[in-house]
Amino acid sequence: MTARTLLAASLTSAAIPLEQQVRAAQAAGADLVELRVDCIGDISAVTGLLEAPRILPLIVTVRCAAEGGAWTGSEAERVALIERLGLLCPGYIDVEYATWRRSANIRQKIGLVCNLAGAGAGTHEARTPGQHPKNELILSHHDLAGTPTAIASLLDELAASPAGIIKVAFTAHDAADACRVLSELRRRRGSARQVIALAMGEGGVATRILARKFGAFLTYTVLRRGEEAAAGQPTIADLKQIYGWERIGPATRVYGVIGWPVAHSQSPHVHNAALAADGIDGVYVPWAVRPDYEGFAAFMDYVAREPELGVAGLSVTLPHKEHALRWLDEREPAAAGVTPRARRCGAVNTLALESDGRWLGDNTDGLGALAALQTARRYMASRPADQRVAVLGAGGVARAIVAALCEEGCQVTVYNRTPQRAQALARELHCAWRPWAERVQYVGEVLINCTSLGMWPAVDETPVSDAALRAGTVVLDAVYRPAETRLLRAARSRGCAVVGGAAMFIGQAARQYELWHDRPAPVEVMRRALPADAG
Ligand code: NAP
Repeated sequence: MTARTLLAASLTSAAIPLEQQVRAAQAAGADLVELRVDCIGDISAVTGLLEAPRILPLIVTVRCAAEGGAWTGSEAERVALIERLGLLCPGYIDVEYATWRRSANIRQKIGLVCNLAGAGAGTHEARTPGQHPKNELILSHHDLAGTPTAIASLLDELAASPAGIIKVAFTAHDAADACRVLSELRRRRGSARQVIALAMGEGGVATRILARKFGAFLTYTVLRRGEEAAAGQPTIADLKQIYGWERIGPATRVYGVIGWPVAHSQSPHVHNAALAADGIDGVYVPWAVRPDYEGFAAFMDYVAREPELGVAGLSVTLPHKEHALRWLDEREPAAAGVTPRARRCGAVNTLALESDGRWLGDNTDGLGALAALQTARRYMASRPADQRVAVLGAGGVARAIVAALCEEGCQVTVYNRTPQRAQALARELHCAWRPWAERVQYVGEVLINCTSLGMWPAVDETPVSDAALRAGTVVLDAVYRPAETRLLRAARSRGCAVVGGAAMFIGQAARQYELWHDRPAPVEVMRRALPADAG
């Protein structure tokens, strides 16, 4: 069976009339609606909806507490309710596999209202009450503690049941769990049973977006943020507008950002907009990967071992930039390489799968800063060799920017709170350094903040006093939340040329895009796609 993956909107409350919510789901593009009766609580509202003319097919779910639901009544009441609602022909009924196995009596009751042995399972048409007396059965298993190693045998067991649709929902500790779930889903594409396989939580977000690539029966969404029936559920609008749901298919290549945390990342907005504009068959998703090296290596080892996942390029953000370099270095030269630029930075922010199967690590942060500086006419008025640049900070971003500036031929001086780090950076990259206290008499025509000072929520902080800013200086702030930092506000008011961190962010993303797709990045599209609070 190669039916397209359906979009299911989960409803968890009847505070807004259910019929109104179903219409909103239909208008948003949902193919069916899941009624989480255990969360909704108002049974008369549910029966009212089921008795009214059908707008979309419905899934009735009365989830028990042991599998993450909100049901507080007895099991006998729950089974009786499922049977009663089933007689109103919602279309689909979700029952836990554990409940199904518990007794012949339960199986008989469920069997009265459901098609068994897979007959007709997976058909998506809406049913009118009376037209077809039975519902498709979804037998489900939820693991609130983690993602087991034996996903395959669990799915095999479910597939031996008489349900036409089988579902597993695990808890992802990180994105490596999501990858294992996706691999299993991929292996079962086209099998006799329709499969729903997902991982809950931030680490599992990719399973919800890539469900369509790997042929899941459906993916669960919500209409509005805050209404999630399970952690990690995206909104329909996000799936469609950010991730280009309709464009995802079996051959879609997968890109993404690895970080911890990663939910706040603006990169999916920017890269997916560019992919859509260029008509590239790709999707860019967040991968929340555990913060230690072992977590990073476990994720990357899996991705490298399973090329069928289709992962072709990755952005790397905190805290994994040094981990990425180490991971590449620990692989055979035939399997991985590092550009001299990334080597100079001591960190990798971009991983690209080359056509020969090698993973290449690069660092585009410095190039992004250069691209941002080049938007300032005052910077472009002089040759790089005549530019004296004061860099505040000696962390990862400072290092990437200093390396790029030195390569351009600029004269760089580093100021950092911890003098040893400034000194080490200056020695390694052959530039000058001065104690942090001297930043107020900075030497140069260009000043770049590479510290985190001024970053949201500490928006009143600034790396140099307002009074120290000299008219005529070009000031670049790597911080991009908020879009206009206190440093940039003060610099503007004192007659400096200002460049925001968003320009650098777009610059580094554009270089990543060019590396992965071998074509110029649609920079204007990327800039417009950056959410307003970041740009
Ligand atoms: P990092 O490696 O942790 O380095 C942080 C730097 O800030 C260090 O030099 C640190 O000094 C300094 N610092 C922190 N708190 C300070 C304080 N209270 N007073 C003085 N100095 C302080 O971080 P990073 O990865 O380089 O990132 C730095 C900033 O760049 C972040 O705000 C990040 O959001 C931004 N960023 C922007 C982009 C972009 O595309 N625009 C990309 C990546 C990152 P010590 O050495 O003394 O600790």
